[in-house]
Amino acid sequence: MMEDSYLVREPSAPEVPLLLSIPHCGEEVPAGIRQRFASERISKLPDTDFHLQRLYDFAPELGVRTIYARFNRYVVDLNRPADRRPLYAGRDETALLPTNSFASEAIYLPGHEPDEAEIAERIAVYWQPYHDRLAAELAALRERHGHALLFDAHSIRSRVPRFFDGELPGLMLGDVNGEAADSRLSTAVLAVHAQSGYSWRANDPFRGGYITRSLGDPQNGIHALQLEMSQRLYMDEAEPYEYLPELAEELQPTLRASLEAFVSAAREL
Ligand SMILES: [Zn+2]
Repeated sequence: MMEDSYLVREPSAPEVPLLLSIPHCGEEVPAGIRQRFASERISKLPDTDFHLQRLYDFAPELGVRTIYARFNRYVVDLNRPADRRPLYAGRDETALLPTNSFASEAIYLPGHEPDEAEIAERIAVYWQPYHDRLAAELAALRERHGHALLFDAHSIRSRVPRFFDGELPGLMLGDVNGEAADSRLSTAVLAVHAQSGYSWRANDPFRGGYITRSLGDPQNGIHALQLEMSQRLYMDEAEPYEYLPELAEELQPTLRASLEAFVSAAREL
């Protein structure tokens, strides 16, 4: 097997029982896949959750370990189930191995889409190790602290007509309608969002993807939240998708306070 399919950032302060996962920030694509891309636009990886590893660079100071993707979601989508069931029944969405982009453009040259053998290989090489590591880290955190928290961080451009009308709000927390985390924890994080000055919403239109749904197990001490976020809060949503440091610095205190509220509310359960 190749080297690690994901990256890890260790805490630099005493550990808190929170794991940060960033499954869509990866911008690497193996050459054998990239050479089959259908267009220049696709090779710019427009559906990436750009720069989130940079935006959340304060996490180690909070005692938080970060697991984040090296490879792009076009290689395999870490936030979709490996058995390819839909996340939102009846709604248009991109697949575990997407063959078209959010803008409905073909990802692969005609006839170069992955076949079943390649799909199985990508799951084994890129998808499974990420999920094995998340599960192992959460089990270890719960062992050491009595409970474990997962914060799955995402971002998306504000306007995606294929999926949504109009412009998305700024901050969109999801706890799978209360199934993935104790509602007191979501309430504590939502209080931060309500005071942030950004527009915000809970479980609408994103309740939480596969990572949040599969790992959140509040009855057994594992609480998972997903934060989806409009990219306009910290970057330019048009090519070349630049990070905007001034906007990012305004946003970081809200993200930091979200993680802190999650940890301190869990301490009081
Ligand atoms: Zn994402």
